[in-house]
Amino acid sequence: MTPLSVGSAVARPGEKVSGFIDVPDAADPGTRIPVTIATGVRDGPVLALVAGTHGSEPSPIVALQRVRAELDASELAGTVILVHVANVPSFQRRTIYRGPHDWKNLNRVFPGSPNGTASERIAHAVTTEVIDRCDCLVDMHSGDGNEALRPYAYWNKLGLDDAVDARARDLALAFGLDHLVIDRGRPRDAGASVFCSNTAHVRGKPAVTTEAGGLGVPTEDAVALNVNGAFRVIRYLGMLPGPREMVERPVWLEPSVVLTSPGTGTWHPAVAPDDRVEAGDLLGTLTDWFGDPLAEVRSPLGGVVLYVVASPAMSEGEPVAMVATPNA
Ligand SMILES: [Zn+2]
Repeated sequence: MTPLSVGSAVARPGEKVSGFIDVPDAADPGTRIPVTIATGVRDGPVLALVAGTHGSEPSPIVALQRVRAELDASELAGTVILVHVANVPSFQRRTIYRGPHDWKNLNRVFPGSPNGTASERIAHAVTTEVIDRCDCLVDMHSGDGNEALRPYAYWNKLGLDDAVDARARDLALAFGLDHLVIDRGRPRDAGASVFCSNTAHVRGKPAVTTEAGGLGVPTEDAVALNVNGAFRVIRYLGMLPGPREMVERPVWLEPSVVLTSPGTGTWHPAVAPDDRVEAGDLLGTLTDWFGDPLAEVRSPLGGVVLYVVASPAMSEGEPVAMVATPNA
């Protein structure tokens, strides 16, 4: 096993070492991305587990602290890279969707740029220090600080390489969330890959985006789903001994739609995560500051509510809910 270095962390075989990827200051402030590398004693794949791409999604962040504590490098084949909080500025300032310095969504600026704004430099650091060094990746999200969510994962059916797509599907099934959105619309251009997991996928590295948790609170259930998911993927890849578990009865979801707010005001949801809706059903109402109705948002398709904004603050164009149709 050759020791891998990520930022300041270098782990020799059998070691688990933490450190930081430095993102230098530029026109706006830089940051330090906390990472852990566990290097096994036998050859195996390099798996990257990324939390905190959105800083107000703490369930995966807390989960990776637990994974770090429980991971025994002396039993491991291959290498696990944990990115504990990819977006530290967003975590520290408790921002949803966007970073506090440049007001950009980190998960929309990949592969980033070394000369860009804070979010773009973070994306570049994750691309070069983590994605370029791994064989496969899980980008672990939850509902953002304002979003109530039922757990699900995305299968990125990118269409560049069927073998990579099949491996990504199996990674998603290994993680263990039984609702899976089939996503065919992601960019195929490595220079404008936009999303963290897609940046790995366009480079031929199977990757999956998971969603478990929400509302800015790391509940025990949501943390456990993320911890279990991480270890299920590790065992699926043969990196630790133990059974390979896959979701036995996946609910494939296609089509799916993210509804956005037609205006700015206060949002009053009419549904909860995991509710079943018919086409035309009310998802929620937007009112003005005084409580008078401005607009209704209705589902254009029948299916399951994957997430819904559960807090009142709402700006025009922001997501209000996601609905996806189970594939019969
Ligand atoms: Zn997210």
